[in-house]
Amino acid sequence: MKKFLFTVLAIGSLGISNTQAAVTPAVTPVIKVTLLGTGVPLLNPQALAKGGRALSGLLVEAGTEKMLFDCGQGVYTRLVQSGGSMISPNIGVDKVFISHLHSDHIADLGPLFSIGALYRYKKPTDGAANNPLRVWGPGSGPNQPVATWAMMQAFRVAYQTDFHVRQLFTNPNDFSVTDDAVETMKSTTELKEGVVYSHGGVTVSAFLVDHNPMSPSYGFRVNYKGRSFVYSGDTTKSANVIKNASNVDLLVHEVYGYAREGGPEIYDYHTSPETAAEVFLEAKPKNVVYTHMVMPPGTSANDLIDRTRAAGYKGPLTPGQDLMVINVNSDATVTITPPGTTTASSKSITTSSAGVVTASTSSSSEIDINDVKATSDFMEISKYRQAQLKGNE
Ligand SMILES: [Zn+2]
Ligand SMILES: [Zn+2]
Repeated sequence: MKKFLFTVLAIGSLGISNTQAAVTPAVTPVIKVTLLGTGVPLLNPQALAKGGRALSGLLVEAGTEKMLFDCGQGVYTRLVQSGGSMISPNIGVDKVFISHLHSDHIADLGPLFSIGALYRYKKPTDGAANNPLRVWGPGSGPNQPVATWAMMQAFRVAYQTDFHVRQLFTNPNDFSVTDDAVETMKSTTELKEGVVYSHGGVTVSAFLVDHNPMSPSYGFRVNYKGRSFVYSGDTTKSANVIKNASNVDLLVHEVYGYAREGGPEIYDYHTSPETAAEVFLEAKPKNVVYTHMVMPPGTSANDLIDRTRAAGYKGPLTPGQDLMVINVNSDATVTITPPGTTTASSKSITTSSAGVVTASTSSSSEIDINDVKATSDFMEISKYRQAQLKGNE
């Protein structure tokens, strides 16, 4: 819709009436994905700065639905930065789907649960003035006796004083912070595979992925008006990702750039660019965007792209950036808008389902974050600590 409005305004400024502009066939966004955190827990002082990479999270808007997938460190900040309207601010998102219980996917749930309550307005037609936070996340598993419900209860206990004192300042006819917290506990759902949420024509399905020993871990698929989106969560090559992302309009997938020798356990539960190429060649998604990008020191996001290309995947593939907006449009095209640009800007790139890029991106005067070499070397730190421990034996 936004894109159409820009079209109308642009034509209007050329002296052509809006009536004429209105007959232009409108390509409307059906599923809007805003990347909130595309980084990982490496030591990175710039993570939350402009152009930095917060930890995992993305916002999906479809129809009247607004849904957050994962909520790692920095996602609360990015939600504020991503905007939304006065009556429906993105920070007021009330539905959260958690892929797994690593802290880089859950750490900002606390602020969203507590401070976010101030912004979870109900529409006037819905009666009362607020919506409780609703959370879907993994149940227990062999290595996670404490799962999503217990985690949310722990947040509730941690924020009990905050909830109570805010309640003292709240008009009881308006809404109840403490009642909302109780509602959150009543509506927290531990995931099973299949459709986990359905409203207004939007469906969210969960599927198991392979992030062992973090199990169960999930990926998600969103369907709306014939368009589709898949988020891999954290996983190594997963048959379920391939199945669910088969011919999907947009796949947002994780990627891990270190060699296996650097840390076999970590390598084995993530996806290298070479393995990701296999996933994409088998699933044939129409567009792929990388997130959760693990870049070894001296390498960049674009190096991850180059390695995927070298492994044989030639389809549409974009390195994600925080606050990048990706629209899956009614005609099955995908419009990718980097942060800091408008939808109508020349920096937007639109790919057809055949992968044809119809507009160029980024101006030469700006530093491209995707060329910035990573400096933090988690593996070196790890090796140093191992050596220290050996020395102490
Ligand atoms: Zn993980
Ligand atoms: Zn992660």
